[in-house]
Amino acid sequence: MASMVGQATLGKEELLETAGLMVEFTRARGDHLYYLDENGKERQVLDLVGGFGSTLLGHNHPELVELLTRCLAQQRPVHAQGSRRQQASELKQALADYLHQHSGERYKIYLLNTGTEAVEAAIKHARYAYAQRMEAMSDACAANARELQIRLERGEIQIDAPLLQQAERLLQHEPLDHVDALLSAVNQRNLQALATAPLMAALPYAFHGKTLGSLALTWNRDARLAFVRNNPDALFVHEPSQFLAQLREHSVSVYQFEFQPLRLVERRLPRLAGLIYEPLRGEGGILELDAEFRTLLQALREHHPEVALIADEVQCGLGRTGRPIESAAQGLPADYLTFAKSLGGGLCKISALAVRESLQHREFGMLHSSTFAEDDLSARVALRSLEILQRDAVAQRCASLGEALLEGLQALQRAHPELIRAVRGRGCMLGLELQDLSEHRSPLLASLAQEQLLGMVCAGHLLHAHGLRVLPSLGRRSVLRIQPSAYLQPADLQQALQAFRALFETLAQGNLQSLLAH
Ligand code: PMP
Repeated sequence: MASMVGQATLGKEELLETAGLMVEFTRARGDHLYYLDENGKERQVLDLVGGFGSTLLGHNHPELVELLTRCLAQQRPVHAQGSRRQQASELKQALADYLHQHSGERYKIYLLNTGTEAVEAAIKHARYAYAQRMEAMSDACAANARELQIRLERGEIQIDAPLLQQAERLLQHEPLDHVDALLSAVNQRNLQALATAPLMAALPYAFHGKTLGSLALTWNRDARLAFVRNNPDALFVHEPSQFLAQLREHSVSVYQFEFQPLRLVERRLPRLAGLIYEPLRGEGGILELDAEFRTLLQALREHHPEVALIADEVQCGLGRTGRPIESAAQGLPADYLTFAKSLGGGLCKISALAVRESLQHREFGMLHSSTFAEDDLSARVALRSLEILQRDAVAQRCASLGEALLEGLQALQRAHPELIRAVRGRGCMLGLELQDLSEHRSPLLASLAQEQLLGMVCAGHLLHAHGLRVLPSLGRRSVLRIQPSAYLQPADLQQALQAFRALFETLAQGNLQSLLAH
């Protein structure tokens, strides 16, 4: 273990291997994973990684296993593309009803495969809506130019020198000596403006996935920079209070004529097609939104209703935070929402994009499709998962589990403020942030912290010494994620807290031998 210190960059597998985390699990049920030790004896592990948030209903939920088994035994079709797909349409209806019940809004649902694909589809829909607006504006500009010509022909108006000068100033153009030159300059400016690529915005510490479009909006530099560097189409909202003003810089101008009195006017259109946010940021380290950002969302809604506000609920949605829809519970506007992880009940890969009915483009279903989206098996499992979520009041379960876990972890933080920087989150989406120990008196601990390995080492220790599985969040390795299922039992909860207590005792005593031994 000590040999991992000092290695500059370890690959993901090496990192997990060295921290002792590369165990092969052979069985999974509820909140537990099982592996065989060197004597072939089955060992039980309490799993707080929870499939990176996908096992809200636990591993291998018995009702879902039964359903899957039955469908396969009955040779139900899985891939009958281009036919009436009853399961997919029932799922869409059920998810739309769920959203309506908890947000009061009506959404159109598109089914997809993974979280990142739902985000890609959201970006595409926002860009499509932007392109449609630009096309409509282009038609409006052409109609405006035609109207000018007709009025000129009819002798209703005249282009005089003051108008040409006003246009030169507005367009910052060299002298325009004739109506044709004026019209051509206006047309050229408008064409250029309307062909400008749209922008998408995201938050610092955001995580939206690893395909190129969502990666461009993912903060984590390790994941992003090798692929998407200085992306001119992506903006991060560093200063929420300045963002509206910044939008003026990120706008395009189109020019149209007004006729009473005759003059050329400029209309500024923001280039922002959409802004994506996680109502509770997961991979960035379980971070809640601050008040300034919520204010920005409301201001955007009010002043730029055309900008698509996208709530990425891939990780926090469907009850995990203790609330059925996290953005709605916070009163945040959401034109689109993305869901994945919990939707598949921990057994299927399925995701969904929800677009407010009044904003959806009917043809989008054709513009974004996939061989595997809408498959009957995943749709069936997701439909049943949604039923279970509601029947078992999963959100309420998560809320009370979250309270009990937070209380225990906060007590631990009070006992070890020098080791635990923060404990935060909601429901079954919690994080424990380690203090920055890079200056610690123990050189070993300090170097583990400097190389951002301490979280991994703690995870390895918890696994082997206490049968508890946690992992650091992807974008902030000093945060240990705690994401049990909604069915975590009281004894498991106590086991988890006891294991954390023992870990921090070991660290506090500087007992590094014991920390690293496994
Ligand atoms: N959005 C959020 C908020 C996520 O947490 C994740 C995955 N951690 C994704 C998108 C991407 O989902 P997937 O891994 O299924 O592509």
